[in-house]
Amino acid sequence: MADILKGSVVAAKIKDDMRNNINTLGSAGKYPTLGIVRLGNNPSDVSYEKSIIKNCDAIGIKSEIFEKDINMTTEELANFINELNNNDNISGILLFRPLPKQIDEERIRNTILPSKDVDCMHPLNLEKIFEGDMSGFLPATPKAAMEILLQNNNELEGKNVVVINRSMVVGKPLAMMLLEKNATVTICHSRTKNLNEITKNADIVITALGKPKFFTKDYFSEDSIVIDVGVSMTDEGKLSGDVDYEDVVDYVDKITPVPGGVGSVTTTLLLNQVVNACMKN
Ligand code: NAP
Repeated sequence: MADILKGSVVAAKIKDDMRNNINTLGSAGKYPTLGIVRLGNNPSDVSYEKSIIKNCDAIGIKSEIFEKDINMTTEELANFINELNNNDNISGILLFRPLPKQIDEERIRNTILPSKDVDCMHPLNLEKIFEGDMSGFLPATPKAAMEILLQNNNELEGKNVVVINRSMVVGKPLAMMLLEKNATVTICHSRTKNLNEITKNADIVITALGKPKFFTKDYFSEDSIVIDVGVSMTDEGKLSGDVDYEDVVDYVDKITPVPGGVGSVTTTLLLNQVVNACMKN
């Protein structure tokens, strides 16, 4: 049976540090506050929002919800983001994406103040990561995968790590974070040939495909450490990762479950960045 790398254990450690920082800020009369901007009522946005608010309440972070017209223009959204940029009571801004088609996302990404950009949208914050500087805001999902590896004492230096995803929210920043820890990184995607040969020879495999139970035993070795970032639904309507957990769990060395793995660390890290933003501003 593989070691199960549970997200809750990693999240608990981050929350301990966060609580200390929130208390210190509170003694100085400062209260970390997340401004959530949602355009329209997309059910998955609303459900994500509820879970963020619950987490904020539980740890002592304030949240303010700004529900906006789904038909608003880029100009109107940019003006509103500027209001939040100038609002001293808002420590960090989270704008739900994808944005409606009429919005020029590039303009909005550039409007959000880098020092309040807790979701790491602004090109300046992303650029820092690609320059190997991890001291700023980091995208929460790849950072969650890193935290799970690091807190479980998995050596990264010199290890062969395969990342299956090349998006800007997961794969590309994750590859930079791994390089910064001196791992040897291979990025795979939908045009990669002989994927299972590449993953089988890796020390660590990080999957973020979004296809339920795609990775069976054939993709791993007995020494594989498997981090499953994917979240999707099976035909039976059950939440699943990219990895066929039941097939693989008795075979590989270590694995994250879904749910209960990467996802449970992601929101905690986002909130931690709100606290960091409040401390820095
Ligand atoms: P995305 O942009 O659609 O990326 C999917 C990646 O998988 C792409 O790079 C794609 O390659 C690659 N891919 C698709 N089919 C493949 C195949 N057969 N073989 C190899 N590679 C293949 O999605 P995303 O936004 O990055 O999210 C990816 C997954 O992570 C989703 O399941 C999402 O729900 C999950 N996610 C989880 C969290 C969390 O906190 N746990 C947060 C964010 C996202 P191409 O580039 O060639 O298309």
